[in-house]
Amino acid sequence: MSDCIFCQIVRAEALARILYQDEDVTAFYDINPRAPVHILIVPNRHIVGVAHVEPVDAGLLGKLFVVARQLAEQEHIVDGYRLVINNGARAGQSVFHLHVHLLGGRPLGWPPG
Ligand code: 5GP
Ligand code: ZN
Repeated sequence: MSDCIFCQIVRAEALARILYQDEDVTAFYDINPRAPVHILIVPNRHIVGVAHVEPVDAGLLGKLFVVARQLAEQEHIVDGYRLVINNGARAGQSVFHLHVHLLGGRPLGWPPG
C-alpha cells in the first residue's frame, strides 16, 4: 500500500533509523520511543494486523521473533524486554501495518495500560 508509512520505510521512500533488513523483515527505531530501546519489527509485505494473518504467514511471523531476539542481544537488553503487538484501534494500534514493538532498557510494569 503506497500510502502506508511502514511500507514507505520498507521501500526507503520514508526515512527511519533502520537496524535490520532482509527480503522479508525490516526493523527500525520507533520515532516516539516509550523506553530506552524501542524498536519496531515489521514484515516487508503489508499485513494490516494480527486479525489479518493467515496460516501461510506462519513462517514470516516466526521470523519477526527471531529478529527480535537478535536485536535484543545487539541492544544489550537480554535481562528483560517485552514484545508487544497492538491489534485494533481499541488496543492502541495506530499504524495498520503489522508490527512488533521491542521494548527494553528499563523496568516494564505489568499489566500494561
Ligand atoms: P501502534 O500504536 O500502531 O502499536 O504503534 C505504532 C508505532 O509507530 C508508534 O509507537 C509510533 O511512535 C511509531 N511510528 C509512527 N509513525 C512512525 C514513523 O514515521 N517512523 C517511525 N520510526 N515510527 C513511527
Ligand atoms: Zn504497509
